Amino acid sequence: MNFISTRGGEKVSAARAIVKGLADDGGLFVPEKFPCVTEAEMAEMIEASYPERAAKVLKKYLAEYDEKELLCACEKAYAKFEGDPAPLVRLDDGVYMLELWHGPTCAFKDMALTLLPYLLRKGCDICGVKEQILVLVATSGDTGKAALEGFKDAEGTKVMVFYPSDGVSKMQKLQMGTQEGENVNVVAVKGNFDDCQTAVKEIFSSEKCASALLEKGTVLSSANSINFGRLAPQIAYYFSAYLDLVSSEQIAMGEEIDFTVPTGNFGNILAAYYAKRMGLPIRRLHCASNKNNVLTQFFETGVYDARREFYKTTSPSMDILVSSNLERLIFEISGRNAKLTAKRMEELKKDGKYDISADELAKLCEVFDGGCANDDECVEAMYDVFVDVGYTMDTHTGCAMKVAQDWFEKHKKDETKMVIVSTANPYKFPQDVLYAVTGNDVKDSFKGIKRLHAATAMAVPKCLKELRDKPVRFNKTADRKKLFEEVLDFVK
Ligand SMILES: *Cc1c(COP(=O)(O)O)cnc(C)c1O
Repeated sequence: MNFISTRGGEKVSAARAIVKGLADDGGLFVPEKFPCVTEAEMAEMIEASYPERAAKVLKKYLAEYDEKELLCACEKAYAKFEGDPAPLVRLDDGVYMLELWHGPTCAFKDMALTLLPYLLRKGCDICGVKEQILVLVATSGDTGKAALEGFKDAEGTKVMVFYPSDGVSKMQKLQMGTQEGENVNVVAVKGNFDDCQTAVKEIFSSEKCASALLEKGTVLSSANSINFGRLAPQIAYYFSAYLDLVSSEQIAMGEEIDFTVPTGNFGNILAAYYAKRMGLPIRRLHCASNKNNVLTQFFETGVYDARREFYKTTSPSMDILVSSNLERLIFEISGRNAKLTAKRMEELKKDGKYDISADELAKLCEVFDGGCANDDECVEAMYDVFVDVGYTMDTHTGCAMKVAQDWFEKHKKDETKMVIVSTANPYKFPQDVLYAVTGNDVKDSFKGIKRLHAATAMAVPKCLKELRDKPVRFNKTADRKKLFEEVLDFVK
């Protein structure tokens, strides 16, 4: 299977798309066409383990990767999880939580970033890339830690993470600052996530940066969800959730279901859309935002307008105004019109906005709708579920819960099963979750963990508990105009 850029231009193999991350024209790589998973193939996957299911889905896109080796890599990656990597928990009649946070850093980013180092290393072998790979990451909090953990001490690879200096939670900052490994670096960037992501994207698309790095025997790659290698493993858990519903007789094979996905950079929900295009019976996708509800507005009006106030919320991994992966959806909705997609992305860069036609919007709304929750509404939703059924969720998932509740309220007769994607362990945001479920406000994260444990009796993950005693290795802050200097300094 070949990959093409959303902005025209090049056509490359899957391995090359993963190694490059971003196309030369600044576009994102998308599969030339969507591979199909038939109902018979799905039936065969019912008895399979999670790694087996993941390898099957991945192989559909990654023709040059050896199937046995791929399975072996999936087994190794998902062995790093506590128990089932993507368990489905029944919340209520017809409502389920898909928990994607049982990995080494307690957020759903682990689903892809435990596997990406293999996909990248193998991709380099396939393409004959001999240089050292430098993985650059712009993070709103969770990707950074998951990438550091995934790539730490990986051979022939260095990983460098940039995060907005005051845009991540205390816990996220501690997780990154205390990272172990000889090949890692973490730098805070003055500004918000969009500033940080833009600065990193500029390094990626600069020929000058590329040749300066090549002189040092280094090529760049990306672990952000603009990289197809990030997206592909995320498609698998939508299949897995569906198969779990079938095997537990909650639905019949072929029955359509809905997903609600807490959304920031539009990677997670885009993977669901890809699963649908591959044949997974998905009816609707509900896109959940926080107060930074640029996507909600987009699905209502067809206008993507990033010229608006940026809010810091209790769901920092969704504090984003420019959702990179939306470009892939826009490309599909336009009938795969690369020229039009390039024009829109140019408008976004220049004017901070673009719009789509009424026909395109209508097509989009056959599948997607958007909703949002401010911090207070998120707290209410988390509290309701905690009191009603004793289930504790994190703040990002809380936003999704509110959006799902709004949907139920408006569609009382709708019997379609709903899966809400749960993206972080509640202990990753202990103070905010504690406040939501008990009304108690504590200043210290570790006190928050202790109290939250007392209130919920949920097990505290070791990787968060032990942060308290780990030495901080990285605490540098840089100006966003000077990021490349930091990069060169790290590579030398
Ligand atoms: C990254 C993240 C999100 C947003 O996912 P996208 O793929 O960027 O839309 C939501 N919740 C949590 C906890 C995250 O870490």
